[in-house]
Amino acid sequence: MNLDALAPWACDPRQSRGRRRPEPAADSRNEHQRDRDRIVHSTAFRRLVYKTQVFINHEGDLFRTRLTHSLEVAQLGRSVARVLRLNEDLVEAIALAHDLGHTPFGHAGQDALQVCMADHGGFEHNLQSLRVVDSLEIRYANFDGLNLTFETREGILKHCSRAHAVRLLETEPDGPAARFVQGGQPGLEAQLVNLADELAYNSHDVDDGVRSGLITLDQLLEVPLIAHWHAQVLADHPGVAGRRLLHEVLRRMLSAQVHDLCQATQAAVLAAQAGWRANRLPENALGAPCFDVDEVRQQAPVATLSAGLREQTTALKRFLFRELYRHPQVARMTALGRSVVADLFAAYLDRPAEMSPDFAASPERPRAVADYIAGMTDRFALREHERLTGRRLFAEAALQPGTH
Ligand code: MG
Repeated sequence: MNLDALAPWACDPRQSRGRRRPEPAADSRNEHQRDRDRIVHSTAFRRLVYKTQVFINHEGDLFRTRLTHSLEVAQLGRSVARVLRLNEDLVEAIALAHDLGHTPFGHAGQDALQVCMADHGGFEHNLQSLRVVDSLEIRYANFDGLNLTFETREGILKHCSRAHAVRLLETEPDGPAARFVQGGQPGLEAQLVNLADELAYNSHDVDDGVRSGLITLDQLLEVPLIAHWHAQVLADHPGVAGRRLLHEVLRRMLSAQVHDLCQATQAAVLAAQAGWRANRLPENALGAPCFDVDEVRQQAPVATLSAGLREQTTALKRFLFRELYRHPQVARMTALGRSVVADLFAAYLDRPAEMSPDFAASPERPRAVADYIAGMTDRFALREHERLTGRRLFAEAALQPGTH
C-alpha cells in the first residue's frame, strides 16, 4: 500500500491518533499493519476457528466459522479499499478483529450472557471485542491488551449503548466511545468493514444454508437478487446445476455487490465533499485544508450501497431470517447454546475456582465470569458444561449436515 496514493479522506497511518500507551514507531511496518499483525498473533483470533457463525462448530467441517467469516470480510473490505484508495491495512485490521468478542454459539451465547449480566453492567459483543484487544489479551510485559491505535479501536467498537459509552468516557474522554454520546461516524475504513461484514454473511449464509439442507436454491428464487443472477448464469451456461450453479450465482452476486459498493461510496464521498465545500463559511476558508478523515467523521455515513441494491440486499436478509436463522433446527441448537452459557455462568459464579486462575482471582466476579465464558470456543464450552453439570446437551441433538 502506497501511503502517498491514499485518498485525502482515508485514514493515513502517519496521521494516526496513536495508541493509549505511546510506543516507538516500528522499523518496517506502518501503525495499522502493526495492529493487524498484533491481532493475527492474538489468542482470541485463533479461537475464532472454533466459534460458531450460524451452525455450531461440530455440525460440519465446511461451514463458516467466525475465523473464515472474518477472513472473508477482510478480503471484501480490502478489495473495496484498494479501489477507493483507502487504508487497506486498517480495513484488514478492523475486519480481522471485528468478531473477537463473540461468545461461543454465536448470537445465542451473546443473548444468554446479556440476560446473565443484566444486573452486573450488561454484555455487548462489540464492547467485548474492544475489551479483548484493550485488556483481556495478555501478551506484553508491561501492559494488558494489544495497545492498538485509535482508528482500529474505533472500527472495532461498531455499536455501543449510550450507558456503556458514558462509562467508557470516564476513563478515556476522547476515546472511540465518544461518538456514541456526541454523535458522528467512524472513519470510512470502519464504515466499509460494516458493509463488507453484511455482504459476506448474506452470501456465505446462503451457501451454508443450502449446504446444510435447511434451505434450497429453488426456495431462494423468491429473492429477486438471487433470481436475477440465477437467470443470468443459466442464460450463459444452460446445463449448469447443483453446487456449481449455486456458487456461480453467489460469486456473481458478490462481485456485483462489491462493484456497487465501490461506485456508490465513491459518489457519496464526492457528494459529501461538495456539500462540505459549499457550506464552509468564508471566514473559515483557511481552516481545514481538505475534506479529510475528521470531516468524514462529522458527516452522515458515506460508505453505502446504491438504493436499489440496498433494497434487494434487505430482501435477501429478510429471507435468511425467516427461513434459516429461525429454522426450527437452528432454533433448537441455539436454544441449547443459550442453556450451556446460562448454566456455565451460574456454575462459575457459584464456584469461581473452576475458572482458570486469572479469572478466578478477579474481585469483579460476574464480569470475570462473563469474560471467561465469552472467550470460550464452542467445544471448550461444551466440555466445561459436561464437566460442571454432568449433562451432554448437544450429544443427541446434532443437525444432519448435507453432503459435502
Ligand atoms: Mg461479522
